[in-house]
Amino acid sequence: MSKLRFDVVQDAFKKKAVPAETPNMETSKYFGELVFNRDKMRKYLSADTFNALIDCIDNGHTLNRAIADEVAGGMKTWAMEHGVTHITHWFQPLTEGTAEKHDSLMEYDNKGGMIEEFTGKSLIQQEPDASSFPSGGIRATFEARGYTAWDPTSPVFIQDDTLCIPTVFISYTGEALDYKTPLKKSLKAVNDAALPICQMFDAKVKKVYSYLGWEQEYFLVDEDLYAARPDLMLTGRTLMGHASSKNQQLDDHYFGAIPSRVMEFMKDVEIEGYRHGIPLKTRHNEVAPNQFELAPISGETNLSNDQNQMMMNLMNNIARKHGFVLLLHEKPFEGINGSGKHNNWSLGTDTGTLLLAPGKDAMSNLQFITFFVNVLMAVQKHNALLKASIATATNAHRLGANEAPPAIISSFLGHTMTNVLRKLMDVPSDTPITIAGKTGKSVGLVEIPEIFIDNTDRNRTSPFAFTGNRFEFRAVGSSANCAGAMTTLNAAVAEQLTDFKAKVDKEIAGGKAMNIAFMDVLKPMIREIIDTVCFDGNGYSDDWQKEAARRGLDTETCVPKMFKEFTKPASVEMFTHIGVYTEDELVARNEVKWETYTKKVQIEARVMGRMAINHIIPAALAYKTRLLTILTQLKTIYPDDFLTMASTEIELLKKVTSLIDEVRTRCADMVEARKAANKIESEYEKALAYYDIAESLFAIRRPIDKLEEVVDNDLWPLPKYRELLFIN
Ligand code: ADP
Ligand code: MG
Repeated sequence: MSKLRFDVVQDAFKKKAVPAETPNMETSKYFGELVFNRDKMRKYLSADTFNALIDCIDNGHTLNRAIADEVAGGMKTWAMEHGVTHITHWFQPLTEGTAEKHDSLMEYDNKGGMIEEFTGKSLIQQEPDASSFPSGGIRATFEARGYTAWDPTSPVFIQDDTLCIPTVFISYTGEALDYKTPLKKSLKAVNDAALPICQMFDAKVKKVYSYLGWEQEYFLVDEDLYAARPDLMLTGRTLMGHASSKNQQLDDHYFGAIPSRVMEFMKDVEIEGYRHGIPLKTRHNEVAPNQFELAPISGETNLSNDQNQMMMNLMNNIARKHGFVLLLHEKPFEGINGSGKHNNWSLGTDTGTLLLAPGKDAMSNLQFITFFVNVLMAVQKHNALLKASIATATNAHRLGANEAPPAIISSFLGHTMTNVLRKLMDVPSDTPITIAGKTGKSVGLVEIPEIFIDNTDRNRTSPFAFTGNRFEFRAVGSSANCAGAMTTLNAAVAEQLTDFKAKVDKEIAGGKAMNIAFMDVLKPMIREIIDTVCFDGNGYSDDWQKEAARRGLDTETCVPKMFKEFTKPASVEMFTHIGVYTEDELVARNEVKWETYTKKVQIEARVMGRMAINHIIPAALAYKTRLLTILTQLKTIYPDDFLTMASTEIELLKKVTSLIDEVRTRCADMVEARKAANKIESEYEKALAYYDIAESLFAIRRPIDKLEEVVDNDLWPLPKYRELLFIN
């Protein structure tokens, strides 16, 4: 067994980079080749059908079912040119990842042969068996009907031999069973709320978009080492493992030279991403050893989120070609940084104005300040809900731990914007707003030109940081569907903007000029947020915990309790009023969340129990046997001097024995706790019981990690942190 681990490590270390399959052309030439984008639509559809489809995509007009046959026909012709034999409705149920059921294009031609067929009907709608997806009781198992329906705003794409059609997934009675449906509703809501405000500044604006730029952090582990770790395979994280002597202390991994095996993986990932029309922009080493990041150029939120889902699938598959396994778990290794998925978010108009960026003149600055302050107000009002929107069993290991994000939602503004807001509180409402842009700064070397310093600094500890033209929601977990966070954020902002507009309208109706009405409504809001949700200090400090509680921000760290926020009156009011979720959907989704939480912890607890009993204790007992053998021999050789001669062995024996006992008794306690928890009927109460079990896993881990420190390296059955993290 020990030999096996040693061999695996040696072999993993010797692996060489597998060259990426680089196409012999510029990226722009093949970008989007596997996506039925506007160019393909133009080529494969008649002018009338093309225009009708574009009208549907750009202006939200319902697609006439009559044209669906032609659209499907065009897609089929294009897809078959790329060797496609199957189609699938591609959707995002309330599990992790995406769902797909492939149907071949084959049909009888009624002349004794076969033909490929793809009709408008099967493009628009399908009826997968919904009973096996989480629904939180919306759809009882005897009523298994659920529907997937084509989302024309996200282009169909090819994966392998299959044409993938992005769809929403709803129940027979119309409730959303997925992430995409509420996301799309929230995007409509934020447009509906923001548009009338934008039109007061510029009558030409017809649409407001929500933009998302995700930064995906991930770990890569050699696949052979991974296969030797049951915890990684079954839970996505290591449940045990002593810290490596060298971790991330030297800050030498962040932005370091990318290891060659990883580099070839990244190239393949990018090439596949480009072929799927994903505008990947950034790749780099992250803070922890074997941790990396990739990010595209931001885009419209629904599309950008679909692309993130696609990317996670692609990365997963491509990793194996390079002998890696991709880890998207938020905390695969204790003691070093975990992985997030920073959601850079903003609003912008179809006329090209970024609503969260300072403008060129006083009026555009007023528009910016309006959106800026309203976003902060929405985040303040729903801070607990926003935290709940990113809470999961796995992200819990990042929440509240000493790394981004703390379990308190606050916003970092930077000194420029803080000063602007402070000033605005005191000046008369008709004072033109000026905001300092980038300033030049000499680096002090004659050969290097002046560099431009941003009007925001960075603060890694802030979960919702302003970064000059957007907010960066850093608390989202690396494995999450961005839609969870983006739906809540857009909905909260939509509610706030609607409320704001009503107030402003009243002031204007009372005879005030527009700019004065705006500032009069904004000023008390600024006063409120500046002392509550805005916080530029260290989000990791203990003082902040106390200060945040004093400010009335939510400091809950128990994930099952956080979910309760979704069904509190203020949240139900917000979501139903804005048309994103019904109360039934909120209740049902919470059931799913608690159930998922319980199951995740339950799996971890089982794996922990079995590894402790089948891997760790036997290894420790083998070491104990070695010690006992030596002791027996010492006793024979030194009958008089035995205690002196055997002192080291006796100490080790005592230590190993007591640690083994600790592991065994703690495991037994944990099994009892599980038995009790499993009898609980209420999903909420059960999740709470499992929250305690999750905590108890740390108590089992501690003696195991101590055993790893003492037991002969030769006998240790699991690849160690120093091996998992430093081989690539
Ligand atoms: P960081 O310095 O935070 O690591 P990255 O370059 O890794 O930044 O990623 C920043 C992300 O933010 C990119 O996806 C980028 O396209 C996106 N982004 C930039 N501007 C906006 C914006 N106005 N709205 C939304 N996302 C944006
Ligand atoms: Mg980044």
